[in-house]
Amino acid sequence: MPTQVDLPIPMRALLAGARRKQSTLLDLTRQLVWAESPSDDKAAVNACVALAAKRARDLGGRVKLHRQRGFGDLLEARFGTKPAKAADEDKGAERRILLLGHLDTVWPLGTLKAMPCRLGEGRLWGPGTLDMKAGVVMAFTAVEMLIETGLLNREIVLLLNSDEEVGSPVSRPTTERLAAECSAVYVLEPAQGLACKTTRKGVGNWRIDVTGVAAHAGVDFEKGSSALRELARAIETVSGWTDLKRGLTVSVGVAGGGTKSNVIPAAAWAEVDVRIARKADGPRIARKFAGLKPLDQSCALAVIGGINRPPMERARGTVKLYRQARALAAELGFSLEEAASGGASDGNFTAALGIATLDGLGAVGDGAHARHESILVEHLAPRTALLAGLLATCSSQGARDTLS
Ligand SMILES: [Zn+2]
Repeated sequence: MPTQVDLPIPMRALLAGARRKQSTLLDLTRQLVWAESPSDDKAAVNACVALAAKRARDLGGRVKLHRQRGFGDLLEARFGTKPAKAADEDKGAERRILLLGHLDTVWPLGTLKAMPCRLGEGRLWGPGTLDMKAGVVMAFTAVEMLIETGLLNREIVLLLNSDEEVGSPVSRPTTERLAAECSAVYVLEPAQGLACKTTRKGVGNWRIDVTGVAAHAGVDFEKGSSALRELARAIETVSGWTDLKRGLTVSVGVAGGGTKSNVIPAAAWAEVDVRIARKADGPRIARKFAGLKPLDQSCALAVIGGINRPPMERARGTVKLYRQARALAAELGFSLEEAASGGASDGNFTAALGIATLDGLGAVGDGAHARHESILVEHLAPRTALLAGLLATCSSQGARDTLS
């Protein structure tokens, strides 16, 4: 039977253990990378999910696959004791921890041919190494070390989804439901440089469609109303909502319209990326989009969109987790900084529920979503030991009620 653990956690011993497991860790990471898993290929993602599910079962995990229609399945694996009776459930939730990750990548099938998975220059290279297959394997390794050292003193829930890279459309409810059962969430996304992430921006997407009136640009110029000209005005307007001091950015990423140069265009469109640092800016910017009006009355605007992920604000519960992580890292001999990211992750969802969330606890490396995607091997063992230490230490009781 696992017993209550007395602090302090033997971090140096965990580090030595992680070093001994490093080659196994790299092997499994390679296997996951070889199982290419673009978000839009259900069968491919599921093959990768199956490898992870096997690993979870081998570690004695209680595995549940949440089947999906349009995307790969979600893998839920539970380790450690679960509360014996329903009456103890509240106590379980006080101590239960969610490890959150994903197995899908942005890379299409066949990427490995041009971007092979290989070790070199102190790195493991390849599609999905950093974002985030190494992070997933680090989580398995951390759990394994806790089991072997008798430090697994609570229930740990690992949730790996298959749709994170496309905004988590189907996994979000499961992520939120499982997070609500836990007192802390550790996100296995890559570190930012060497830092973990205590703040992430929220993300919104909008689309603007303009309908104008087509006409011959030479013969009937006066009869036309240019959808492109109206769109250009709208682009100028929404771009002007950017407020860097507030951490609010509005960026028109793609746009199009028109048919031929001698036709006044009857249709034009644009897709807009919005980032917010403050929750309150979500409804504010949504009202602005809803209020967009054409200057040329013969044109019509149709605007759809909304905030997809709320911002992860630097809440007290998160700061508390960060301080624990920093203290454990110091015992391991490195300093762990905190950082703010302009990008979003599934941690945005759990943080917005008021659950203490610390992000960026996965691998250290470079080039997520880029040709030079790779992890730095030297950081694997220390970061895995850190994760194990966090899972064993986490005294997140009260983290929830101190959140604003
Ligand atoms: Zn990721």
